This record gives sequence, structure tokens and C-alpha cells, in this order.
Amino acid sequence: MRVAIVSDVHANLEALEAVLAHARAGGEVDAIWCAGDIVGYGPDPNAVAETLRGAGALCIAGNHDLAASGVMDDSEFNPMASAAVRWTAAALSAEHRAWLADLPLVRTEGAFTVVHGSLREPVWEYLLSGEQALAQFALQTTPYSIVGHSHLQFHAAEDDGAPELIDARDGDALALGERRLILNPGGAGQPRDGDPRAPYMLYDDAARAVSWHRVPYDVARTRDKITAAGLPQRLADRLAVGR
Ligand code: ZN
Repeated sequence: MRVAIVSDVHANLEALEAVLAHARAGGEVDAIWCAGDIVGYGPDPNAVAETLRGAGALCIAGNHDLAASGVMDDSEFNPMASAAVRWTAAALSAEHRAWLADLPLVRTEGAFTVVHGSLREPVWEYLLSGEQALAQFALQTTPYSIVGHSHLQFHAAEDDGAPELIDARDGDALALGERRLILNPGGAGQPRDGDPRAPYMLYDDAARAVSWHRVPYDVARTRDKITAAGLPQRLADRLAVGR
């Protein structure tokens, strides 16, 4: 079984289509898992929801999904994110809004737990330190967990000492063995590590390994759509630099 793992697609249809095409070019993709923030920031919330739902993707909710679907208010969001939440809420079809509002915060699939932020704060915590990784392992009931929210690709392994967050680069692979792991596929629709290419992760159960990838996509097209939609211009500009 090959699984394409994405997070933080943020209504960026071109990025999502590019990573799915890349994953499918290497063989059949049997499942798609998405670690939240399906919508928000980007110009195509309905098309992205449609693509993931149509593919039967396993999805959980991120903060943007809950705010745009009206499950929670946007008081915790900065002004730019808030503007995007309001735009997305108005753009979403009733059907996709209801689907987003019903997404669970945590899901377990085989050896993996999927959550947006962290297990102690599923929607809001940015898991970015060894100390936070320790707290995650304390709550993690499966060998591996997948988190998003920070829009950074990394892994952390449970060892004797304090876990370290190790950045992942395009083409990096990691064998799945005894050590418990936290894995972040990166923010497919809005990378924040200075590389504008869309990130994702691939899990191959026959190879018992995960790998990280970066895929070029038509950033200019997404930027033009963001501008045309009247979303904050910074949301378009940041895609060009991956910040
Ligand atoms: Zn996000």
C-alpha cells in the first residue's frame, strides 16, 4: 500500500494536484491522508475539498477548517488569517462547509495517529521542540504520529534522551522500525521553509518506510487566483518565496 500524506493544503488546488500527480507517477496511490487545514489562505476551498473527498481521503480538522466552517470563531487568528477565514466561509458551499465542520480532531489508521497540531492541543499547538515531542510521545498510543500546522517537514524519534526534531529534505527516506516517531509532511499549500515547491510525504508499507518530497507547481497561477479573489496580497506573495 502506498499512501500520499499531506497537510496544510490551504485551498491551494495547484499544489495539491501536483503532489498527487507526483505520488501517482511512482505507482498506485491507495490512500490519501490529510493532517488538517484543508482550507484557509488559498483561493480554491471547494475544489480542494472536492478533490480530497472524491479520493476518499482520510482527513482531520485544522484550526482553519473549524473557523471557516463556523465551528469556532476567529478570535485567535491574526488579521490576515482572519480575513482569509471570512473569505473562505463566504466561498464554501453548504455541503463542503458541513463536511469540514464534521471532521474529527484525531484519527488512527493502523500504526498511525493523524492530528493537526499535537495530541495535547489537537488544533492549536505548534509542535516545534524536543520537549513538545516528549509530551506527544506520552499521549501517543500508536507507533507513529503525523502532525502538521507548522508547515515544516521533519521527524522526531523517541530515543533514550530528549527527542530532536530533524528537518527533512526532498528525497529523504526513513525506515519504520522499533522507534516511535512523529512525522510532519510539511505545508503542501503554503510551505514556510524558504522552498516554494509543494511538500508531501509518502508511506510505502511494503518498503516499511516513509519519504519526503518537494514538487514544483504553477505558483504564478495560484498567486493570480489569490489576487483576483481579493484575498490579502501577502498570501499570494509568500507562495513565491515559500515563507
Ligand atoms: Zn496551516
